[in-house]
Amino acid sequence: MKFIGAHVSAAGGVENAPVNAHSIGATAFALFTKNQRQWEAPPLTQKSIDTFKANCEKYGYTPSQILPHDSYLINLGNPDRDALEKSRNAFLDEMVRCQQLGLDRLNFHPGSHLNKISEEESLLLIADSINMALERTQGVTAVIENTSGQGSNLGYTFEQIRYIIDHVNDQSRVGVCIDTCHAFTAGYDISTPEAFAKTFS
Ligand SMILES: [Zn+2]
Repeated sequence: MKFIGAHVSAAGGVENAPVNAHSIGATAFALFTKNQRQWEAPPLTQKSIDTFKANCEKYGYTPSQILPHDSYLINLGNPDRDALEKSRNAFLDEMVRCQQLGLDRLNFHPGSHLNKISEEESLLLIADSINMALERTQGVTAVIENTSGQGSNLGYTFEQIRYIIDHVNDQSRVGVCIDTCHAFTAGYDISTPEAFAKTFS
């Protein structure tokens, strides 16, 4: 069964996201569980959590049809110790929010080396960051999204994503989200059925 949807607004509270998804006829949706451009967010209230769950049930959305996306500020491969710590704490908070909402996955961009360390060193920091978050949460899978490789962003080759996964301790809780636009701009030809088949063969 294929589900089709969009990233929908959660303005006014996460509980509004399933309502917004339903209003456009989506059978799946993505959302931010907090403001994606700020580090700090107030914790989810019990009322917000309960209403989110009730709305998902009302409109027929199960966790497998919902893919939350983390904040754009987070860089799990940051070479700077303090900045890395800040990102790791924020990522853990995002994972906890998913857990509280009864969701089972969190989509995120791997991270950037910022031209201060090698790609490999940064990939290892990312894997460690994932390990730390998985150890402190339950039931939520960390879903790595491929990137277009802008700036020093990692995750623009399938091999880099594989390298991260290879260094994750609990591989039952790590997944991949393929952004087709990012894949194409990173150089993977998926513009025809034949090219797509060859890329993923
Ligand atoms: Zn993304």
